Amino acid sequence: MLLLDKKVTEELYDILILGGGVAGLAAAITAGQLGLQILVLEKTVFGGTVAVLESVTEYPGIDQIDGWELTQTMARQAESAGCQLLDSITVNNVQKREDNTFVITGSDGNCFRARAVIVTTGGQPRLLGLNDETRFARHGIHTCAQCAGPQYKDKEVVIAGNGTWAVKAAFHLLNLGCKVTFVTGDTEMSGNAVHIDSLLNRKHFKFMPGCHVEKLYGEEYLEEIDVVKLTSGIRKRLKVAAIFVYRGIVPDMKIAAAQQDAKGFFLVDENFMTSLPGVFATGRVVYAELPIQVLVGDGSRTALSAAAWLQTNS
Ligand SMILES: Cc1cc2nc3c(=O)[nH]c(=O)nc-3n(C[C@H](O)[C@H](O)[C@H](O)COP(=O)(O)OP(=O)(O)OC[C@H]3O[C@@H](n4cnc5c(N)ncnc54)[C@H](O)[C@@H]3O)c2cc1C
Repeated sequence: MLLLDKKVTEELYDILILGGGVAGLAAAITAGQLGLQILVLEKTVFGGTVAVLESVTEYPGIDQIDGWELTQTMARQAESAGCQLLDSITVNNVQKREDNTFVITGSDGNCFRARAVIVTTGGQPRLLGLNDETRFARHGIHTCAQCAGPQYKDKEVVIAGNGTWAVKAAFHLLNLGCKVTFVTGDTEMSGNAVHIDSLLNRKHFKFMPGCHVEKLYGEEYLEEIDVVKLTSGIRKRLKVAAIFVYRGIVPDMKIAAAQQDAKGFFLVDENFMTSLPGVFATGRVVYAELPIQVLVGDGSRTALSAAAWLQTNS
């Protein structure tokens, strides 16, 4: 991380990128290579959700890569393209000034100025919303099978939720030897049809559609859960070592005058610009579930759009 000094905070950047996951880093690489002055602010460490994935297999041209290696290479590429990368700074506020520049306030109290902003802050996993859920966090309740799965080898586990990553997580857990029950409020699994068919035929896999996890039991660690059938109200008690929650995300970034939908996702036009001119949004803060290669392409396109906008608006 670069040390902050007054010079950094007084500089007027062309684009300030909020969030350093794959979408933000892809935007930074493209914008930096165009010769623009770019600052990327990241709340924790660069790489976002992908950084913790043990294995990424979707990226074109790379058979398989560790998420950390992929994202740290992207961060180095962004720096080589001339971007400044600052980690451990949470962006708290974005304001448009009368001179049409933006002032971004970081959790360290510093302010940063830019002519345009790209928001790529992703969101927090949507949990089950149950009592005791936080008590069992990492003691049986998890949001990443690739990260926490190995602790539950050969155990009974539940996937609660739906979608591409939930299906992928089911395979991952079965391959670790877990017995997997897939609980979803929907009538069927969503994602790749071939993967779903093959999952339904796997030994040690059970599908419970139209059901919700209703209650959690256990002392220090999760031990049992109640699952309720939504149409009949019938409850079933299951012994489980863990629940992996895959219910999408809740974006938590708010910018006054940039419209967001009821779930908090930013609304953007075909150029990824929000309703606040000069503020762009891309990645998971716009779409709930898309694979890395799409978000990388979108991040890059967003940078090109922001660069074009800067040319005609300054
Ligand atoms: C469990 C799981 C498994 C997945 N597996 C795969 C897979 O195998 N293959 C695949 O293609 N995709 C996978 N995905 C999807 C992939 O992780 C996402 O599509 C991708 O991470 C989204 O990138 P992003 O940059 O939009 O957001 P994120 O990766 O969420 O990055 C957002 C960044 O913004 C930072 N941030 C947040 N708020 C602030 C703030 N206020 N100020 C500054 N910084 C902030 C965060 O710390 C984070 O680093 C998976 C997702 C999950 C949840």
